[in-house]
Order: sequence, then structure tokens, then C-alpha cells
Amino acid sequence: RAKEKGRNDFQIFNSDMKSVSINRLKLENELRKAIAGDEFILYYQPQVDIESGRIVGIEALIRWDHPERGIISPNHFIPFAEESGLIVPIGEWVLRAACKQNKAWQIQGFPPVPISVNLSMRQFFQHNLKGKISYVLEQTGLDPQYLELEITESMTMDVDHAIQSLLELKELGVNVSIDDFGTGYSSLYYLKKFPIDKLKIDRSFVRDIMVDPNDAAIVATIIAMTHHLNLKVIAEGVETEDQLRFLHQNRCNEVQGYWFSPPVSAEKIESMLNGNAHVAAANEPT
Ligand code: C2E
Ligand code: MG
Ligand code: MG
Ligand code: MG
Repeated sequence: RAKEKGRNDFQIFNSDMKSVSINRLKLENELRKAIAGDEFILYYQPQVDIESGRIVGIEALIRWDHPERGIISPNHFIPFAEESGLIVPIGEWVLRAACKQNKAWQIQGFPPVPISVNLSMRQFFQHNLKGKISYVLEQTGLDPQYLELEITESMTMDVDHAIQSLLELKELGVNVSIDDFGTGYSSLYYLKKFPIDKLKIDRSFVRDIMVDPNDAAIVATIIAMTHHLNLKVIAEGVETEDQLRFLHQNRCNEVQGYWFSPPVSAEKIESMLNGNAHVAAANEPT
């Protein structure tokens, strides 16, 4: 972790204000260049139906393929991009690239699955978000049912805005999920009012379900609640067979995590989609 950070992170070595602002300026310039120079790529992580073991969705996750530093993880630049506003053009690139790729897979004859795209706070609050997404869907020819937008609980704190925006997105025919569920503000009262399709249980709860009875209880309760609310539920960060078994026994619909696959290149996900039946056989929950 420290090694990775040393290589990739734009570290602020001391709290001297001058060096902080120089670093920020440098990062901002580099990000602008990255946007102009097409230095971003998407990785894809499968979402697997726990009953059938089949890939039923794919999450698109951005990486920065930096000319000198190599592949940089989103945690190292998305927060800054969000702060500086550069997330808006970056987010638009992600949306377009993900829709284009998903459409290409459908044209190539892969069984169609929705692609999930993470929306940032600024995007969610952007004027005419619906129009912008609708335009990308039109341009890429992707059927809206094959796009899923992931928002986080913190974006729903302005409840009226959230309901209004979500209704507009639903009018488009796209799916909406709440990412990292359980880590943020979550009013169960409003949850039932939000027109959403799916909850993604944050991996911090999933991590310890086999060792921490509290986490096990929380996860089981979230799953039961989603069934009552008629929402789909996916567990993030599933890394072991024991976790998978627990989630299966507790009637979780879908899983995403290293147990099946980390985020991978488009090429690799294509071979997984080709072997979809094989993935199913290999990972049948016992
Ligand atoms: P997220 O949307 O919650 O994505 C899941 C993250 O968990 C991914 O990290 C993924 O690699 C990681 N992960 C998946 N399975 C496992 C597992 O079994 N164990 C562990 N330890 N980790 C697992 P990644 O790709 O580094 O992305 C981190 C975060 O960056 C994302 O969290 C999301 O919040 C943000 N992000 C990524 N791509 C975008 C994007 O295009 N736009 C925006 N706005 N944010 C993005
Ligand atoms: Mg996500
Ligand atoms: Mg998440
Ligand atoms: Mg996250």
C-alpha cells in the first residue's frame, strides 16, 4: 500500500502551504492534460448473480494511464477532480466510454448486461443531467435499460433534489443504485421514497461478516430490508467463499469482488463473458 502510494500518489510531503498549492496546481495541470490527451481508461468488474453464478452486470471503474507514473487508481485523483470541478468533463468521458463499450459488446453478440457508472456529486447536481445522459445514450445507441448509475448516500442529503433528479433519471429508463450503502447518511424513511433499483452494500461491512457478528447482523438486515422494499441488493468486496456462502444463505441477489474478479481490462472481461457458463460452474455456491 505504502509502495503503491509512493509511486502513484501526488503526495503532499509537508504542510507548508506553498508546496501544497504547487502540488495542487501541478495535479490540476496534469489532469487537464490527461483529459485533453485521452489518458483515462476504464477497467471493468463483473457483478455476478449468486444463484446462477452468471455475470449480470459490469461496473466501469476509471484508471489514469499516466505517461510516466503508470496506472493511477481513482482514489488518488477523483477526490481532487471533484474538488476542482474537473470531475465534470472526466465523468462525461466515463459515461460516454462506458456506454460506447457496452453497445460494442452487444453488437459483437455478447449477452446484454447493464453497465454501471459511478456518478460524482457534481455530476448529480449538474444542470440538465437528464438531458446530458439522454444525449450520450442517443449518441452511443445504448438502450437506457443497459445503463446503471451509481450514486452515494451523501448525494441524497438534499432530499427534494434527490427525489426530483432520480425521477428524471428513471424517466429516461436507466437504473439507479446506491453505492457504498451503509457508510453515509441513510434515512430509512427517505429510502422508500427514492425511486431506486438497487443497494450496494459497502465492502467495509462485508469484509468482517465471518468474524464480527455485528457486521453479519447488519448485512443480513440490509438484505432483508431490500427484499421488503422490493430493491435488488449486491454485496461489494466479496473475497472469500465463506462470505459468498453467508450472502447466499441470507438471500443476497448479487456479488461483486475479488472472489470472482478484480476490475480488469475490456479484453479480459470479454473472455469472462465468453465463458459465462464456465464461471457459473466454477463458482456455484455450495
Ligand atoms: P466504488 O464505486 O465503490 O468501486 C468499488 C471499488 O472497490 C473499486 O476500487 C474496486 O476495485 C474495489 N473492489 C472491488 N472488489 C473488491 C474486493 O473484493 N476487495 C477490495 N479490497 N476491493 C474491491 P477502485 O476501482 O479503486 O475505485 C475506487 C472508487 O473510486 C470507487 O469506489 C468510486 O467511488 C471511485 N470511482 C471509480 N471510478 C469512478 C468514476 O468513473 N467516476 C467517479 N465519480 N468515481 C469513480
Ligand atoms: Mg461504484
Ligand atoms: Mg462501492
Ligand atoms: Mg466508493
